[in-house]
Amino acid sequence: MAGTRPRVELIPIFEDNYVFCLIDQDNQEVLVVDPGEAAKTSLFLKENNLSLKGVLLTHHHNDHIGGVRALINEHPAPIFAPKKNITQIGSADSWLSEGEKIKIGPFEFEVLELPGHTLGHIAYWEPKFKWLFSGDVLFGLGCGRIFEGTYEQAYHSLQRLKKLPSETLVYCTHEYTESNLNFCRMLSNLDNSPITGDSEELELYANQLLTRREMNLPSVPLKLAVELNVNPFLLAKSIAQFSYLRELRNKQ
Ligand SMILES: [Zn+2]
Repeated sequence: MAGTRPRVELIPIFEDNYVFCLIDQDNQEVLVVDPGEAAKTSLFLKENNLSLKGVLLTHHHNDHIGGVRALINEHPAPIFAPKKNITQIGSADSWLSEGEKIKIGPFEFEVLELPGHTLGHIAYWEPKFKWLFSGDVLFGLGCGRIFEGTYEQAYHSLQRLKKLPSETLVYCTHEYTESNLNFCRMLSNLDNSPITGDSEELELYANQLLTRREMNLPSVPLKLAVELNVNPFLLAKSIAQFSYLRELRNKQ
């Protein structure tokens, strides 16, 4: 018999990061994604009487992995990490590559390698619940900065996300959506703007976003179906167009 549907809780850390807690409510068990810091997550686990079953890491940046050791010391559990980050991350219990499947409790993830922001970046796709934990690859109305990979790799990584079911909820790590909205508006005011998207849908998006942010609510998870129509980086039709947008965004 199917149990209670699991839920995802967001814990805000630092300026604009989120740690995601995937809660199996039937068994009081939890998976944690990208704990950049341990104290708040650990407190959340204790207050909610949750047993940690695993830590999922998307890439090696410190604001995603900085809290892993302290969290594991208090709540022992296996660590899952991208195989291509073995030198940067150092220790984990499972090193993951493209296409691997991991089953933990009610969750079954498929690993997607999405280079661009970093070379070893992975995302965790959960097809049953249609959840994507995508680290710093895609943001609300934006995408991650390209630190290690090429524009071409980052473009292809986004093209892969476009093929996921449109009802997918995207759990991205940063609350950048408002500042990306300003970029989108600047873009639509440019002469010969290469990408404008659906301007009515963008304004609807803006209204909902600003209402949520005024109430201090997150813009995450993103609805992939909506991002497909308004996110300029998903609308880019070529590597050249994508690169142009990314460079313009870098200058902001
Ligand atoms: Zn990062």
